[in-house]
Amino acid sequence: MTQTMVKSPGTEMAFIDEVCSIPGGEAVRSCIQCGMCTGSCPTANKWDYPPRKAIAMVRAGLRNELLSSNSMWFCVSCYSCTVRCPRDIKPADIMHALEIISIRSGLSTKRSRTPIMYQCFVDSARNYGRVYELGMMIKLFMRTNPFSALKLAPVGLGLFLHKRMPLKPSRIKGIAELKAILDKARALGGAK
Ligand code: SF4
Ligand code: SF4
Repeated sequence: MTQTMVKSPGTEMAFIDEVCSIPGGEAVRSCIQCGMCTGSCPTANKWDYPPRKAIAMVRAGLRNELLSSNSMWFCVSCYSCTVRCPRDIKPADIMHALEIISIRSGLSTKRSRTPIMYQCFVDSARNYGRVYELGMMIKLFMRTNPFSALKLAPVGLGLFLHKRMPLKPSRIKGIAELKAILDKARALGGAK
């Protein structure tokens, strides 16, 4: 891992300042690198750089290495790390800040479906005002790996039989207002 103390492309900010500029990201400055978050994280064994190391990389300016890794995309927001952190840091919020910068920078990895899943989620919310689960999942699998849908077919069938997954989408009232909110979020720097 080579150390590159560079300013973030397109900004005058160092990487740590870029992360701190996103709500939740500013906690990187308080971390004492105790490793409790990594030890508590149920998915850490899948991360290229687990939570403690990811935070260290922000502080070391290792922007491209971290933003193009699969690390933050494996955070499932379980908050186990948060209840154990001795500095009252919410590592999940830092990871979500990294996700935002990663998408904005065009560096998000293809080794995780999560970036595409977020886009499918927002598209569904824009179109219907709520998540149309069947449509969202079909779109996700078509854009990632259609064959992996077969593994989830029994789950989908079970949901359908219990009337928990409608075949047709329904649209909420007031969709225009919701679109305006999403447009505003995008204008404020949210991912496309
Ligand atoms: S538990 Fe908190 S202080 Fe310790 S490494 Fe993780 S974020 Fe930093
Ligand atoms: S919130 Fe994210 S980083 Fe923290 S323990 Fe859960 S999966 Fe790991």
